[in-house]
Amino acid sequence: MGTIVITGSASGIGAATRTRVEADGHTVIGVDLRDAEVTADLSTADGRSAALAAVLEATGGVIDGLVTSAGLGPPVDAHLIADVNWFGTEVFLTGLRDALAASEGIAKVVAVSSNSTTTSPNTPDELIDAFLDMDAESVHAQIDAFETFGEGLAYAGSKTAVARYVRRHAPTAEWAGAGIRLNAVAPGATLTPLLQGGLDDENFGPMIKSFPVPTGDFGSPDQIAAWIETMLGDAADFMAGSLVFIDGGTDAMVRADDWPRTFSM
Ligand code: NAD
Repeated sequence: MGTIVITGSASGIGAATRTRVEADGHTVIGVDLRDAEVTADLSTADGRSAALAAVLEATGGVIDGLVTSAGLGPPVDAHLIADVNWFGTEVFLTGLRDALAASEGIAKVVAVSSNSTTTSPNTPDELIDAFLDMDAESVHAQIDAFETFGEGLAYAGSKTAVARYVRRHAPTAEWAGAGIRLNAVAPGATLTPLLQGGLDDENFGPMIKSFPVPTGDFGSPDQIAAWIETMLGDAADFMAGSLVFIDGGTDAMVRADDWPRTFSM
């Protein structure tokens, strides 16, 4: 049994993951605004530093698993979405790498990305690069320059940056080579307080409702948590850099032939 750090553990997908992981016998160190072992505001640089320090202290610098689920979505302020979804994720991925490498077994990381990575059109590469370059000023300026639905852009951009971070780092010596399996899930519309906030909004509600989900209903937090639980276990020993879509078929429907993509040499 191990120590699993879960951000966003107080609600939705994070809370459902917590329930499953604790039932498996693991110790959970939750990070959230409330109802968590580490109470912190991940929207600020000070909050993120304090949270990282508190997690390292609570775990003694040895961690067997990490799930980054803290996040916000439209209609919340676009800067807040960018700051929590990306900077509040990156701080743990980068800051806990050494503690994950110190695990006695093969450590597992599951970053919670989104199918907005591939189903939201026109996310500029410059924005994704600014996230990955840790350039908060540029991120905020690019979002502000977007005239409408900047919240959606912040969401898709931050989640794509998370996916890119996973793809870039997972196969490297510092991650796969150091006994850490870094992967991500890309959920589609999942009925949580975050989605409900969007559904209740007069602008975003109709957009979410008109977005097709081939299997029918929205997903449940536990359906996503079941995949995260699997990706924290032995089944993921041979898995690195995967972005697993759990979205009722929306990604496949929107871009059936985009993936897998061949390449030429
Ligand atoms: P949720 O609102 O139920 O849970 C999100 C958690 O993040 C909450 O406990 C909240 O308190 C925490 N959080 C928010 N801001 C924070 C801050 N500043 N500091 C610390 N914690 C903070 O939502 P959810 O749907 O379970 O979202 C979990 C993750 O799943 C998010 O990253 C979200 O983007 C992602 N996701 C959700 C959906 C969906 O349709 N629900 C789809 C794709 C991806």
